[in-house]
This record gives sequence, structure tokens and C-alpha cells, in this order.
Amino acid sequence: MRIDLLTLFPGMCETVMAESIVGRARRKGAVQVCCHQIRDYALDKHQRVDDSPFGGGMGMLMLAEPIALCMDDLIEHLGYKPHTVYLSPQGKTLTQRRVQELSSLDGLVLLCGHYEGIDGRVLDAYVDEEISVGDYVVTGGELPALTLADAVCRMIPGVLADDECFQLESHFNSLLEHPQYTRPSVWRGREVPQVLLSGDHGNVSRWRREQSLLVTAHKRPELLASAELTEDDRKFLRLNGFSLPLSGQ
Ligand code: SAM
Repeated sequence: MRIDLLTLFPGMCETVMAESIVGRARRKGAVQVCCHQIRDYALDKHQRVDDSPFGGGMGMLMLAEPIALCMDDLIEHLGYKPHTVYLSPQGKTLTQRRVQELSSLDGLVLLCGHYEGIDGRVLDAYVDEEISVGDYVVTGGELPALTLADAVCRMIPGVLADDECFQLESHFNSLLEHPQYTRPSVWRGREVPQVLLSGDHGNVSRWRREQSLLVTAHKRPELLASAELTEDDRKFLRLNGFSLPLSGQ
């Protein structure tokens, strides 16, 4: 997969995407990430990329033409137009399901806005989808784009050591992950649950499932409505005092 970030701050994106798991995945060729400086496509000698909004108002808007030229250059280079996402507080909130879907694409363009945003006409011309990282506003699209790029990268086969790493994680099956512990088995007087030291894989697996159900029911009960629950799961939740607002109960 190839991810192209269009931004006024490619250094910021490059720095983050060079580190840790994503950095390693890039170096071994599991994913290609390219950061493009929109300012390189500015039309005037001052490399201006913004102007004040028509109709007045606060702040500046990113100009359409440098973004369009950057997109055209990329499309010509690739020979096709990849699915293009504008990171925006007005977009649909990012979910693990959408991350998984996007990770199956060959190419993905992430367009980062800045200032008060981007001239709407270039969005109409190139953007397939707007994605938000939550109902709040940050100064630029870089952090949201990096969040999305990181989440997508770790779904690509070969990036994590084992696909099980993400299959057992929070949100993969609409459940949150069970608590986890590592050495020492007693830390400042707090012991890890004995079942985890028992070596009985069946019991460990049952305990993890039950903890996952409890954590989800306590922290994000609304997720249970879309989780695949067995009859045993439902019984366990009822026994623990959670009533399930699900059909077929
Ligand atoms: N004036 C815009 C509005 O009210 O919708 C907000 C502009 S914001 C200050 C600047 C840029 O940050 C946006 O163009 C977008 O790329 C990015 N951004 C801000 N909040 C975001 C969020 N929650 N999710 C994704 N991108 C966001």
C-alpha cells in the first residue's frame, strides 16, 4: 500500500512516520509513505498558499490551485487517482472498521488542511471522503492524518508481528480489550490475577473474554449492541448485573 500525505508541514509528518513500528514497516517495504509539500506548488515568488475568505471573516484559507497542482502531479506520477481523504472536523468520525476498509486499498491520499481550512472548490474536485478524528478542532490536518495513517499501516499484513495482535485488540470486534499485566507478578503489593499464572490456556482464554465483556460493559456499554455475543456471553453479563438492550434477549 502507498499513502501520500499532502501538507504544509511534511517534516512533521515525515518525523512521525519514520519512527517505531511504521518506520520499520516502511524500511522493510510493507508500506510506502510519501509526504508532499503543498507550498512547492505555490504560484508566486513568495510561495503563498493562503488568502482571506470571500465575504469576510476571520483567518485565512488555503488556496485551491497549489493543492490542485500537487494532486495533479501525484496522479500523473502514479497513473491513477487514489482514494482521497480530507481530514476535517466536519467528516465522519474515524472508526476501526473504516481503518480496516481503508487498509485494503492500494493507494490513499491524505489531504491536511490548515488555518481556517481549504477553498471548498478544490475539495469538491478531488476529495472522495472527509474523515474526522473526533468532535473537536485541532490547528491542522497533520495530527489527524498521522493518526489515520498509523492506524491504517498497522492493519497491513506484515506490519505487526502477528495479525492476532490487532484481532484481539479493542474495537476489532466491537469489544474492548481485557486488562493485561507483565512481570513482576506482584508489584507494590498488587498481584496479577492467579488464572494468568496457572498455565491453563482454556481458563486464561475464558477469563480474558469475560474481562473484555466487563470492561466494555463498564466503559463503553453502547459498543455491546454491535458486538457478536454468544449465549454464554449474554448469560455472563446478566449474572454480573448488566441488562442487554439487545433484541432476542
Ligand atoms: N474552520 C474549520 C471548520 O470549522 O470546520 C476548521 C479548520 S481547522 C482549524 C484546520 C484544519 O485542521 C482543517 O482544515 C482540518 O484539516 C484539520 N482538522 C481540525 N480538526 C480536525 C478533526 N477533528 N479531524 C480531522 N481534521 C481536523
